[in-house]
Amino acid sequence: MQGPPVGTISFAEENDYVVVNGTVSGLTPGKHGFHIHEFGDFTNGCTSAGGHYNPFNKEHGAPSDVNRHVGDLGNIIARRNGRASIAIRDHQLKLQGAYSIIGRSVVVSEDDLGLGGFPDSKTTGHAGARYACGVIAISK
Ligand SMILES: [Zn+2]
Repeated sequence: MQGPPVGTISFAEENDYVVVNGTVSGLTPGKHGFHIHEFGDFTNGCTSAGGHYNPFNKEHGAPSDVNRHVGDLGNIIARRNGRASIAIRDHQLKLQGAYSIIGRSVVVSEDDLGLGGFPDSKTTGHAGARYACGVIAISK
């Protein structure tokens, strides 16, 4: 049997944006939501990570939307081998100051980018199962 999804994601500041790079493997092929969640807490599995990081009380959206949760990074796409490569430049994420995402978490789950028309599309992206989660910590 295949194990749970695993991966390593790095975050780095460059000029006025944050570069997010990495891979996640062990996923089912296709699209998966990729979001920053409020807490770096997995006491009760990925559920304890809370909702999408949303310090400005906005609606759930796509990464290119102005009206979106800060944590909304959209979808990643796993290839047939179950591996997704991530290369994102984002202007809303911060690694310093009051809205730093360090100590929060990354969660890979289901997501419809707020477009699905479900009652929770605008709040959670009609998010389903959380497949994998990790804390955003400081590395060398
Ligand atoms: Zn969201």
